[in-house]
Amino acid sequence: MTSSPPASARHLKVSGVVQGVGFRPFVHRLAGRLNLAGWVRNVAGTVEIRLEGPTAQLDEFERSLRGEAPPVARIDSVESAPAAADGTSGFSIMESEDADTLRPVPPDLGMCAQCEHELFDRTDRRFRHPFITCTNCGPRYTVIDSLPYDRERTSMKAFAMCPACAAEYASPSDRRFHAETVACLRCGPRVWFEGMGEGVAEGSAEGETAILLAAAALHMGAVVGVRGLGGFHLAVDATNDSAIRRLRKRKHRDAKPLAIMVRTLGEARTIAHVSEREAAALRSSASPIVLLRPRDGSHLAGALAPGLDRVGVMLAYTPLHHLLLTAVDRPLVMTSGNLSEEPIAIGLDEGRTRLRPLVDAFLLHDRDILSRCDDSVLRVAGTHEILLRRARGYAPVPLPLPVASPQPLIAVGPHLKNTFTLARHDRAFVSPHIGDLEGLEALEHWRQAYDRYRDLFRVEPTVAVRDLHPGYLSTRVAEELGLSRTIAVQHHHAHVAAVAAEHGVTTPVVGLSFDGTGYGDDGNVWGAEVLVSDLSGYRRVAQMRYVALPGGDVAAREPWRVAVGFEALAGWHSEAFALAYYGVPNSLRAGVQQQVDRGVNAPLASSMGRLFDAAAAVLGVRRHSSFEGQAAMELEALAGDEPAAPLPFPVFEQDGRLHMDPVPLLTALGEGRRHGVDVGHLAARFHESIVETSVDLARLIAGSFALDTVVLSGGTFQNARLLTRIAQRLTEARLHVLVPQLLGPNDGAISYGQAAVAAWRLSQE
Ligand SMILES: [Zn+2]
Ligand SMILES: [Zn+2]
Repeated sequence: MTSSPPASARHLKVSGVVQGVGFRPFVHRLAGRLNLAGWVRNVAGTVEIRLEGPTAQLDEFERSLRGEAPPVARIDSVESAPAAADGTSGFSIMESEDADTLRPVPPDLGMCAQCEHELFDRTDRRFRHPFITCTNCGPRYTVIDSLPYDRERTSMKAFAMCPACAAEYASPSDRRFHAETVACLRCGPRVWFEGMGEGVAEGSAEGETAILLAAAALHMGAVVGVRGLGGFHLAVDATNDSAIRRLRKRKHRDAKPLAIMVRTLGEARTIAHVSEREAAALRSSASPIVLLRPRDGSHLAGALAPGLDRVGVMLAYTPLHHLLLTAVDRPLVMTSGNLSEEPIAIGLDEGRTRLRPLVDAFLLHDRDILSRCDDSVLRVAGTHEILLRRARGYAPVPLPLPVASPQPLIAVGPHLKNTFTLARHDRAFVSPHIGDLEGLEALEHWRQAYDRYRDLFRVEPTVAVRDLHPGYLSTRVAEELGLSRTIAVQHHHAHVAAVAAEHGVTTPVVGLSFDGTGYGDDGNVWGAEVLVSDLSGYRRVAQMRYVALPGGDVAAREPWRVAVGFEALAGWHSEAFALAYYGVPNSLRAGVQQQVDRGVNAPLASSMGRLFDAAAAVLGVRRHSSFEGQAAMELEALAGDEPAAPLPFPVFEQDGRLHMDPVPLLTALGEGRRHGVDVGHLAARFHESIVETSVDLARLIAGSFALDTVVLSGGTFQNARLLTRIAQRLTEARLHVLVPQLLGPNDGAISYGQAAVAAWRLSQE
């Protein structure tokens, strides 16, 4: 018999999201509690732990490691190996090992409940400190300059810790032990207000006064530029219609919905219906904008989301937001600090210069933002969460690639809603939302983000991957990188590949790829495609019947022009199309008809987005759009959840391929509307027609190719009704349905799909 159990030692390697989330301090506390000796350190994206002590305690440690990990950590695996005991005592956090391998950077985390409590606790020394954070919350990706994640390599290095903060940082029992962003009112960043006169206070003020002045300006209807976490917001009172109109005018944003921010979930519930799933998303550490159905009689201004049945809501996610919202005591519009679709401003001087014409005042701080990161946006559809924009809180968490790339690569992404993907081995680092690649600002933003990603993750790509379209700016970007090799991937193949790849599926699938525009391999505009595809390639088995798109891209903003193209298919002078041209001068319409007849600047398109435009036009809902997808969003809002029977939307075969024929569908819609049928009911029937035909096609093709898996991809599947109905019907038909989860259905996923396809190709050489 021995008096004390023999000591043994173990070496653990923990993978997952384990850096920058308070993992090492947690390990330190756990080891202390169990009386274990050893050390913990970050090594190349994993955490290594060496432990020494009695076997029972070692086992207990491994159990608790998974059970008690910090809320935002995610343990993917723990490798445990025995080691030789050497009688060490004490437990230490060792300096990070800077290894040149794959290194994850944590995403930014919304303020945690404990910090919120301290923020409003008069007795706490951080009472009303606008930069309160801890190991479980606060900025990460946006303040990290390089890895490993330590204060000296973040923008917090400019703020030397005061003795009180330093003591917390060094104390293993403190919840700010090794919190790299720790600060307080004495030593942390500061906030200040800059008024421009013209109705708001002129001059500047700091601290509490700054927040009060900003709140006063907002009460008066001013637009305030607020420097936040991943960039500037433009803030206005969300209950003030004229203030919102002024913001729209200055920002050149006519009708596109504007997101609002409230302080608490309770406040969100007073203005909108919030399901449990939606509440969970709102409160998640990513704290995205969630699209919610507003309550009748909410005091929100009508100009927020005209014509739509959803409003984007997020909860305050930084202490500064909490303080500002407390002072204002009403919901605020918080929209990206930019003009129209330009990149969001982040730098102090940059923000002052670029946003000066848009704002009446600024609420600023001096903690530098090193990476641009917009707010993420999602909606809940049944049991699915649909990511509409993946940025803050999600990026830069890497995604796995189903087939590892033998060479590091950069997939430059699409033309609109751009993201890029940097890939090495089986890790894909998808950038946050960048925006439309149009104009020099956007190009510059793209290059900056790319350089930061290369630096952070230390990936030097040798292969560029781009879209097929020779004329896109993204293609020029790819060529200018000057890499030894460029691979081109078709847009809709990338869509289907992205969804299959995030599910780890490499075998052939039936891919429904529905969106507005992608360049087809026949030179036409694609966007309503059914592909049989895997990572190696695709076969286009079905499409929408081609229609002439008079004016090309111009038509995407003018649904009535799209209707002209479809009317040509129906044979001219169809009474069903009459409503589409209401208010359009006859001469203009005749000119566009000629354009279609002669095929002058009228590219052929197979596009689900354009079918929605044409439907909106013939229903008299919308003849001009102010942003891509507006007509589709309005039709979805009109349709609501009303059950409806499909209208005829037949399929015919031609040249060995199936074609969806939209003419009977549009004719039925126009006829119905002319006979006074409710427009919402017709919109519902329109949706059901697409569901019916999609399901028929998918089943037919799955049957004839002996496949059992269907992928839903493309921007059209941001439509919750289509996504949930098609997924439900296909599941009932015993097909396996893959929907976008880690990335959204829209073009934000294209770069990842490009990377997956290119990795496969390279792996076969
Ligand atoms: Zn916290
Ligand atoms: Zn301090």
